[in-house]
Amino acid sequence: MPRYAITTFGCQMNVHDSERMHDVLRRAGYAEAGDPDEADVLVLNTCSVREKAEQKLRSEVGRLARWKRERPDRVLVVAGCVAQQEGERLLKQMRAIDMVVGPDNIPELPGLLGDLALGGLPIARTVFDTEAPRFLAASPPQGASGRAPTAFVTIMKGCDERCSFCVVPYTRGPERYRPSDEIVAEIAGLVAAGTREVTLLGQTVNSYRDPLGALPAAPGASPDDPDESEFAALLRRIAADVPGLARLRYTSPHPRHLTPSLILAHAELAVLPRHVHLPVQSGSDRVLRRMIRRYTRAEYVARTRALAAAVPGLSLSTDIIVGFPGETEDDFAATLSLVREVGFKGLFGFKYSRRPHTPALRLADDVPEDVKGARLSRLFEESEALLSAHLQGLVGTTQEVLVEGRDKERGHGGHGGALWSGRTGRHEIAHVEGAEELDLLGEIVEVAVVRANKHSLQAELTEAARAAARPRQRGGEEPGRPARRALPVLSAEGG
Ligand code: SF4
Repeated sequence: MPRYAITTFGCQMNVHDSERMHDVLRRAGYAEAGDPDEADVLVLNTCSVREKAEQKLRSEVGRLARWKRERPDRVLVVAGCVAQQEGERLLKQMRAIDMVVGPDNIPELPGLLGDLALGGLPIARTVFDTEAPRFLAASPPQGASGRAPTAFVTIMKGCDERCSFCVVPYTRGPERYRPSDEIVAEIAGLVAAGTREVTLLGQTVNSYRDPLGALPAAPGASPDDPDESEFAALLRRIAADVPGLARLRYTSPHPRHLTPSLILAHAELAVLPRHVHLPVQSGSDRVLRRMIRRYTRAEYVARTRALAAAVPGLSLSTDIIVGFPGETEDDFAATLSLVREVGFKGLFGFKYSRRPHTPALRLADDVPEDVKGARLSRLFEESEALLSAHLQGLVGTTQEVLVEGRDKERGHGGHGGALWSGRTGRHEIAHVEGAEELDLLGEIVEVAVVRANKHSLQAELTEAARAAARPRQRGGEEPGRPARRALPVLSAEGG
């Protein structure tokens, strides 16, 4: 049986695509290699959203050239956004690559590998499925050790926005939506197999519209609002049709589509946790205009305030780019003041880098690298201070944590002894100590927060949660962290 391995770079969309590649390859008779160096087929699922991510691919291919030379029948596949962006050029530039596959061509992977095995030439397949979009469903995990408390479900792909810094519309194509019936069926299957939390995925996830027109208008939706979508209606349908789902998250929303209907859904649906990741990118109207974000700072603040008023205790996180062309000290100061004003509890910050095929290429990349670096450091100082104060404020409280895996070996933050880890509804990471004898995987447990670490909470089960927990089966399968499902990370792409 041929063996394969997949290395994933980038965002959740890529993590999800890699999961689908695992499914497609396993169904075609391939087995996963324990060690990538032992694989017959190695897939690099790439990211092109930042220049650094693309450089990583080039150095990885350089390293793998030796792996290929050892056994020339091995197959090196490049998938994902760099594959879509560069296509055949990659085959010409890096001779070690045998195949280039775009995100929409994952289902064709086994057939293309078969062609290569029969002596076919290196091939690039990067065709968007605009006419008949395909969305590969996740296979519910099998077996006790494969329990997956969290899962991603794609509801749309592509992007019709044209943010001037972003290559995604080029690498992922125009927006295409998945029928709500399919989405609900996939989530119901996952929940029946033990999944507790689903994250809906899409580049602008809250621009969703049902392509079959199967959703009624959501309460609060205005037909005259150009930013209105059917996303709130989809959330309501999932909540109604899959009552066993404990938590429903989504990433990445665009601030434009944070409309009254979506805010009302957050106020009314208990399945929506009290956390939203809402990329803002800059706090300066001048920069937002040049980024073609299509909202102002005041509009962003007004919408997040309305959301926070509707959902007491809500926490917000965001993405910010520093050093965008023409960004002055005043512009950057406006970004820092926005971070303080909104009080983000999490932040992904990036230095602007020129990306191929983007409108911003017409602007001079005029902020020096050292200035970008200094601004990024100041941004992180600001956000770390906010997060630290927030986490400190939770010490002594009780929280509900969805347990996602075990951390026995890792001893986070110098506090060895943590065993289980998961997320609160507000997305804080929590490490649960002193429950070695219990099987908490996939449980939502009540914990008492005993300490704040730099980026996480240290907690203990409450007495009631301990009394209700299942004992761990000795000698059975280790419940361990489900294969390839890391704690969900926030988006660095999309929205
Ligand atoms: S940043 Fe988000 S909304 Fe803007 S073009 Fe990229 S994917 Fe689309």
